[in-house]
Amino acid sequence: MKKFDVAIAGGGLIGASIALDLANAGLGVGLFDRQEPGLEASWAGAGILSPAPESAALIALVPLAKASMAIYPEFVRMVEEASGRSAGYRPKGTLQALFSRHAREELSTVIALHHGLGLRAEPLSARDARALEPALSEDLEAGVLRPEEASVDNRALTQAVLEAARRSGVQFFSARGAEAIWREGGRCLGLHLKNEKVEAQWTVIAAGCFSANIQGVAPYAPVRPAKGQMVALRADDLKIERVLWSEKIYLVPRNDGRILAGATVEYTGFEKVLTAGGLEKILAGAIELSPGLAGSRVEETWAGLRPDSPDHLPILGPTDIDGLLIATGHFRSGILLTPITARLVREWVTEQRVTVDWDRFSPMRFESASAHRAPA
Ligand SMILES: Cc1cc2nc3c(=O)[nH]c(=O)nc-3n(C[C@H](O)[C@H](O)[C@H](O)COP(=O)(O)OP(=O)(O)OC[C@H]3O[C@@H](n4cnc5c(N)ncnc54)[C@H](O)[C@@H]3O)c2cc1C
Repeated sequence: MKKFDVAIAGGGLIGASIALDLANAGLGVGLFDRQEPGLEASWAGAGILSPAPESAALIALVPLAKASMAIYPEFVRMVEEASGRSAGYRPKGTLQALFSRHAREELSTVIALHHGLGLRAEPLSARDARALEPALSEDLEAGVLRPEEASVDNRALTQAVLEAARRSGVQFFSARGAEAIWREGGRCLGLHLKNEKVEAQWTVIAAGCFSANIQGVAPYAPVRPAKGQMVALRADDLKIERVLWSEKIYLVPRNDGRILAGATVEYTGFEKVLTAGGLEKILAGAIELSPGLAGSRVEETWAGLRPDSPDHLPILGPTDIDGLLIATGHFRSGILLTPITARLVREWVTEQRVTVDWDRFSPMRFESASAHRAPA
């Protein structure tokens, strides 16, 4: 039987980064994935690093998001050094474009909201916004510059984290999905794979939107997939420096000249079908934001499945089963929240305390988890 200090189910950005941090702390880590690691949401994402809440429900996430943003440069440096690969980190800020006739009022509301949350945001006239980003539409009424935001090439970062984890001694097991947690009474002893058990002092579930399919996990991580369709464009004569947002879509420039446009949010189960309506919405929004993109080449289209939770907040921390930790439900912010998630899980495993409060994200907050309380 395989035996580790920590067994992790799921080799996306979250599971792999946790594995890397724990291996760097001297622990023996086994990382189990049902396929090649790194090919689900962490591959499909856009890589925007923005702690600004997209809705009122996500305001509770801001402190954690800010904590992750603060350690992102250090995380990227560590991963790039350890892997010898670039992560395509672009700390160039983001620019939100406002088109409505009431842009002036909207602008003061947006700025006040950001400042109230301790986030930097600067109002821009349409002229100033276009001076910064000449590719923006002339129909623009105003803009908001968020100078501390950034983006990362999440495909490159994921591969870099996987390589760094390998070099740090993490043992990888591809095509070895977890079928269930191995539970005896109130303790988790590891994972059940097909025809095999893996023993571990700590077990971490980081299988993204698939986490609830692992037997014994659903009460703590009732996640579901939220499909996002994406398009990659290339326009040789058009330069975009920063991430650009409108109410409808975002544009994310990559170091290789591609411009990603996304994304839909759809609850259609575990399927990744690209639809005419989804692509139409993204492309129409992209051309409205930056009309020069009408002549751009479509280089790639894809869809991925975000791990969403009932309250759209991440699910992080210990459960009432000794030795079982959950790290999933990162929904639209998993790439942003990767460094802080890895750090907090490592702190809990090595010191049983965390330096950023994560109680709000406890896997015990769901009614089903309380109903499954382990016998004393
Ligand atoms: C279109 C789109 C755009 C996005 N844009 C952004 C963005 O701009 N910024 C941002 O911060 N976030 C963004 N996200 C969200 C982000 O990508 C996710 O929150 C994050 O990648 C989740 O990482 P993960 O490791 O938890 O999951 P995943 O990357 O999905 O990895 C889960 C892993 O678990 C494995 N697995 C599944 N079942 C099992 C099993 N039974 N046993 C073992 N392994 C298993 C899978 O094979 C996979 O490798 C976006 C997502 C999408 C889809």
